[in-house]
Amino acid sequence: MSNKLHIVSLGCNKNLVDTEVMLGRLKAYEMTDDSSEADVIIVNTCGFIDAAKEESINTVLNLHDKRKEDSMLVMAGCMSERYSEELSKELTEVDIFTGVGDYANIDKLLAEKESRFTEQVYLIDGEERVVTGSTYHAYIKISEGCNQTCSFCAIPSFKGKLNSRNLDSIAKEVEGLVKQGYYDFSFISQDSSSFLRDQNVKDGLIHLIKRIELIDGVKSARILYLYPSTTSMKLLQEIAKSPLFHNYFDMPIQHINDEMLRMMKRGFGKEKTLEQLNYMRSLPNSFVRTTFIVGHPGETEAMFEELCDFVRDFGFDRANVFGYSDEEGTSAFDVAEKLPQDLIDERAEILGAIIEEAELKLLQNEVGKEIELIIDGESDEHEFLLSARKTIWAPEIDGEIYVNDKSIDEEFEFGVIYKAKVTDLVGKILTATVTGRA
Ligand code: SF4
Repeated sequence: MSNKLHIVSLGCNKNLVDTEVMLGRLKAYEMTDDSSEADVIIVNTCGFIDAAKEESINTVLNLHDKRKEDSMLVMAGCMSERYSEELSKELTEVDIFTGVGDYANIDKLLAEKESRFTEQVYLIDGEERVVTGSTYHAYIKISEGCNQTCSFCAIPSFKGKLNSRNLDSIAKEVEGLVKQGYYDFSFISQDSSSFLRDQNVKDGLIHLIKRIELIDGVKSARILYLYPSTTSMKLLQEIAKSPLFHNYFDMPIQHINDEMLRMMKRGFGKEKTLEQLNYMRSLPNSFVRTTFIVGHPGETEAMFEELCDFVRDFGFDRANVFGYSDEEGTSAFDVAEKLPQDLIDERAEILGAIIEEAELKLLQNEVGKEIELIIDGESDEHEFLLSARKTIWAPEIDGEIYVNDKSIDEEFEFGVIYKAKVTDLVGKILTATVTGRA
């Protein structure tokens, strides 16, 4: 009887790819959703900001409470890497600690019941992975680490310097996944627009786009995590003219006030950022997503109001807002004067409400439109409401659409692209009627 494995992947989609590599190494195990019957429990942690660290610790402790005797509890990933010394001493509940260098060695660590922190940050390069969460969409990690020095960010301290995969390795992985039926891909990293800069190639993403366009069977693609100062107009124009890559622009800008962008060490000011955003917005069927940080040391009321006005006017399709988290090892951490936590929370709430209002307005504009969508399965809401997403949207983070009707005879097939008409906006969710196959 095979051993049972329970695995939890926390944090971002880049962490998810590493979790899928571990699953590729542990194919001999039987997967179980019930951690109390698992022989091996693995938590791939996130260590980005306080909230994520808290979730990682709580997840490990909760799983420990429910685990069966003689099972093995493994703590892997960014939090484990960032605080390896403290955790190894204090978190005695954990049997095996590993960081961000040994995902492809997980089977050996389990066999040897040994903790290991290989210095070289792991980057997938041809290893088999078990794609989770979809039968047609996969995340493709194009690089690891980051050369930027954003004042608030600790990621480079535990993920290291930018290390890009080569194009052949990426293309080979995509070709292999196409053979398994995957046709929709999201290309991800910490700083995607710097792809191949560590190999002295400027605009590496343009080479990537051209290479992926040559692969038969890829029907849909998007790039996440563009960085403003390494995103050229040439790249944006390449995306705009690509028959494959959607006009999907995910570019965390963090703020819009010049002085604050300088304090955040973002390398790009308001004027150039607006030039990029306005060009993205000007493209047909464009989708613009971003992220903000409020409450960074030095943020005045006036800077915050400037940001709020900008977000209200620009109207992002999707945006996340984080309250500043004081992370040791970052340059902002050394700034003496910090904003009080309740003010940080208040600003995050205010900007969050402005973002939501703008998103609802844009969603309302979708009603009556003809779109393309993919049905993922039954929704959590009701068996007669099917959960779908627009083909341009990224999975999970951009929301879902409820398909509640069709004007075609055939039975629905999950994971294929349909044409549909948006019929209504119910709360924050669009409803649609399927009108044909795309
Ligand atoms: S681009 Fe900035 S925020 Fe993103 S991982 Fe690099 S340093 Fe952190």
